[in-house]
Amino acid sequence: MERQIRYQREADLAWAHSFPQNPGCERLLSCIQCGTCSATCPLALYMDLTPRQVIALVREGFREDVLRSKTIWLCASCYACAVECPQNISITDVMYRLKREAIASGIYPKRFPIPVLAREFYEMVRRRGRNSEFWVVFWMAMRTNPLVLLSMARTGWELWRTGRMSLRLRGIQRRGDLQYLPAASKEVD
Ligand code: SF4
Ligand code: SF4
Repeated sequence: MERQIRYQREADLAWAHSFPQNPGCERLLSCIQCGTCSATCPLALYMDLTPRQVIALVREGFREDVLRSKTIWLCASCYACAVECPQNISITDVMYRLKREAIASGIYPKRFPIPVLAREFYEMVRRRGRNSEFWVVFWMAMRTNPLVLLSMARTGWELWRTGRMSLRLRGIQRRGDLQYLPAASKEVD
């Protein structure tokens, strides 16, 4: 991520103040910026913002900087940072919250496959009640970089040939009941 000077007037303080009210984010303000989370994270090397920086930016209200970062999508939800944090902050839950907000706002990095994969997975489950791996990956590739399908073709063929991947678009019975799920999840929000 390109580093830029940020000014306090650019911060969204209302967002920062409301963020700790999200489930799992309650202890955000107790962060002492020790950096243990960044040192523990196995993926920090590849992130454009370290977990410590994500926490600092959220706390100060720099919403767009964190939502546009690749870090929240590279987080593998391993919980190593949360286990080691001396302040018992659930950094993983903060990452989850940011991912959801990035998708809802549509400001995640364009053509970056992970948020597209997450959205395709969600849409597939919302519409059909089940995930069909082949079709989720197929549409993720078509919407980001179709050429990647060429590099996956051999593995896909082997998985299909040995019966470990189906091309069938599967779904559950009584799909109409699924309409209640998004409403229920909004209530949890
Ligand atoms: S380990 Fe915890 S207290 Fe330390 S910087 Fe990370 S979130 Fe903050
Ligand atoms: S949960 Fe995410 S941020 Fe925390 S250590 Fe694992 S990959 Fe890194």
